[in-house]
Amino acid sequence: MQSNTIRFSCVGCGVCCKGRLIPLTLAEARQWLSRGHDVSVIIEAFDEPTWPRSSQEFDHARGRSVSVRCGNTRIRVIALFAGKALEQCPNLSADNLCGIYEERPLVCRIYPMEINPFIALRQDNKACPPHAWESNDVICTDGRADPALGALINQSRQADISDASSKVAICAQLGLNVTSWKDNALAVYFPQREKLLEAIHRAKGTPEDYPDCEWQVRVDDPSLRERLTASAVALAANESAEYTFHVL
Ligand code: SF4
Ligand code: SF4
Repeated sequence: MQSNTIRFSCVGCGVCCKGRLIPLTLAEARQWLSRGHDVSVIIEAFDEPTWPRSSQEFDHARGRSVSVRCGNTRIRVIALFAGKALEQCPNLSADNLCGIYEERPLVCRIYPMEINPFIALRQDNKACPPHAWESNDVICTDGRADPALGALINQSRQADISDASSKVAICAQLGLNVTSWKDNALAVYFPQREKLLEAIHRAKGTPEDYPDCEWQVRVDDPSLRERLTASAVALAANESAEYTFHVL
């Protein structure tokens, strides 16, 4: 049987370090902020009818999320912390090499592999130039990452699970209470650096420690608004200066 092998070796072009948000674990976000750089917060939510309960997608999303009260029901919220590299990563050197190579975030070590188990690695979805894919180094065979990369991917997925409650609690503490709806849009906050760092240092364990936080969902799509209203979800106004809103 022929195997589907993907070969790759980073050529140090630095393209993947520019024009994006860099997903971080909670510990990495603390380090990123401590170095004097900004971290954005992306909040998304879903509810049980989003996927069949027995599906792998539901299990994956449930592990990365926490249940919070929203209106007269409960939703599950995922908070993603991401280093701001919208022009370019603040750690990128003039020679396009990583200035914190030994301490770079997990996601930078894993790229171009996918962390999400439901997204297949595709060369045309990646920033890497064609000659990076002409290497002899095998990174993936029949959809399986090579063992070293696989261990990093597992570490990243595990951090998503173990950080989930603290990250949502930090959002509640900072009053970042409006979430987008999964696969519909992204609500992106750019909290002030010192405030976010302080909130991370002060973080209590769970969102239940912030009972005054009134979670709301921002949805602009009329049919989804109707579905969520019928489910007793509290909806936010269709405009806000508190976050940027990107419909997917
Ligand atoms: S931390 Fe390093 S590898 Fe990661 S995006 Fe920044 S410069 Fe690139
Ligand atoms: S875009 Fe690809 S080849 Fe270029 S630095 Fe990033 S990982 Fe390496």
